[in-house]
Amino acid sequence: MLYQFSMHDFEVLLNYPNVTEFFQDKIGYTEFLQSVNGFEKEWDGRKVSELAINSLRALAKNRPQNLFCFRIFNGVNDQKIGRLLSGAIEELATIKDILVFPIPTLIDSQSQACARDFEGTAYDEKRKRVYFNRFLYRVVNDAHVQKLMDKVLNIFIISNDLYGDIDGTRYNWFFGQTNIVHNINYSVISLAKAKVDIQVYDLFKHELAHYFDVCENRIINTVGKHGQHCTTPLCVMQQIDTVQQAVDYAKLRYSKKADTYCKYCIEDIKRAKSIFSLKELLKLK
Ligand SMILES: [Zn+2]
Ligand SMILES: [Zn+2]
Repeated sequence: MLYQFSMHDFEVLLNYPNVTEFFQDKIGYTEFLQSVNGFEKEWDGRKVSELAINSLRALAKNRPQNLFCFRIFNGVNDQKIGRLLSGAIEELATIKDILVFPIPTLIDSQSQACARDFEGTAYDEKRKRVYFNRFLYRVVNDAHVQKLMDKVLNIFIISNDLYGDIDGTRYNWFFGQTNIVHNINYSVISLAKAKVDIQVYDLFKHELAHYFDVCENRIINTVGKHGQHCTTPLCVMQQIDTVQQAVDYAKLRYSKKADTYCKYCIEDIKRAKSIFSLKELLKLK
């Protein structure tokens, strides 16, 4: 199940007393629903979207116990990219409960500016690409990311190529990296080598699934070259090393109408436990 909020809606969610009280078990379901129905898109003089109200109702109804949270910093000014990202998240949300903000299909100026700022300061003029380790340094030291964000996946979409040092190895370029540094979970994805939409779509599905430790603790159908990957034919979690391979593999997968994740990877995603808690988040505000 997917619960979507704009940045503004998310701030309201954090600050509206009845939301806080409901998720901290201080008021009941009926009381909460009445308050949600009562404000009709306006809380405290601030407009709230229909989507946010629906998400709140669904959150209240389902009370997900294993809720994951994605925070998006999309630095690419292209709505098509937002739609592809949204599709990838929606697919994962058929397996897990995911709360996402800001809304992936819309361009959020604040989040976009943040991603571009990181990308700009990490850009290496000589190599004409972003130095990944410098980018991460900015992520870890930024107040936007730090504020309540150590239990969510911070997704950064950038347009320049990446190079950097990962686990002692120098990579002259890579598509993306999903990991954790100083308690900050991140997924940094570069679209510099994106040739076709289905390749981008698969790249998003692949990188985001790494957050759920897919293939990490598995002995069936895995290979560990650049991190753990899947060896099941047509699974999106296979290791991809070149741009041509990425394009060809995406085309093959779509021509065969292959499922995104194989049964082993789906089992891995299902098993993942969240460290995000709405209750805790509301206490911290
Ligand atoms: Zn991977
Ligand atoms: Zn797989």
